[in-house]
Amino acid sequence: LPSDFSAAPECLAGKIILVTGAGDGIGRAAALSFAKHGATVILLGRTVEKLEAVYDEIEAAGYPQAAIYPVHLRGAVMKDYEELANTIEREFGRLDGLLHNAGILGQRRTLTQTTVDSWDDVLHVNITAAFMMTQALLPMLAAANSASIVLTSSSVGRKGRAFWGAYAVSKFATEGFMQVLADEEFELNNTRVNTINPGATQTVMRRTAYPGENPQDNPLPDVIMPLYLYLMSDASAKVNGQQFDAQPKD
Ligand code: NDP
Repeated sequence: LPSDFSAAPECLAGKIILVTGAGDGIGRAAALSFAKHGATVILLGRTVEKLEAVYDEIEAAGYPQAAIYPVHLRGAVMKDYEELANTIEREFGRLDGLLHNAGILGQRRTLTQTTVDSWDDVLHVNITAAFMMTQALLPMLAAANSASIVLTSSSVGRKGRAFWGAYAVSKFATEGFMQVLADEEFELNNTRVNTINPGATQTVMRRTAYPGENPQDNPLPDVIMPLYLYLMSDASAKVNGQQFDAQPKD
């Protein structure tokens, strides 16, 4: 994050931004923060009540009215993503930002003990779903002329570590997907593509991965939002194919 960046109150005014996994954790914080800075946010996730709660919070705060789009990323097929694209086309005519944030941890075991079913679940939700959704939404992103795609990585997506199994592999795949897509889309459509490693953040996923840790030792998702705002705002219009860390490395 450039040291001179500070998010202006209206830095996302008029932008249409889709957030996956918007009902909880980092995705919820990002949806609220994007809306606070003027964006119309499309809240995508699997638990409708959680999405409704975020929608209500946005409404109560007087931010631009959000939209809810429930999808179970494990079961959704290409037709579902085409339907999503058609709905966005009809309602908004373009998409300025796409934050791939939804993710699952899977089994915390060695690779030799990882079941094929769990491997498939993690790879599908964490990367294959992002590939399908991105492919369907690229025309809507191109229509925005300067769209931003942000994918969510992890420190284990940059250096492998024992017991992180399919999750780590899915995050390496996320980095590879980002690099290839960034190289293809920026020249073609001026769509930039980057990854964020959020770093240790107080969420259900972090508590599940580190049950022995005091959750309060990690920052709340709100704290890491400046980088998310930077990458979604026009301040990063020329930034493409980069890996970012939302927190100083531990
Ligand atoms: P949470 O588990 O708190 O939230 C994940 C979100 O993704 C939830 O809203 C969840 O929906 C949604 N989701 C999961 N599976 C599906 C699915 N099949 N279909 C639709 N939505 C789904 O995780 P975090 O907020 O901690 O993580 C967000 C991202 O950040 C992830 O990609 C994670 O890998 C990454 N990350 C997090 C770190 C941390 O310390 N927290 C560190 C490094 C990376 P629901 O609530 O309905 O289950």
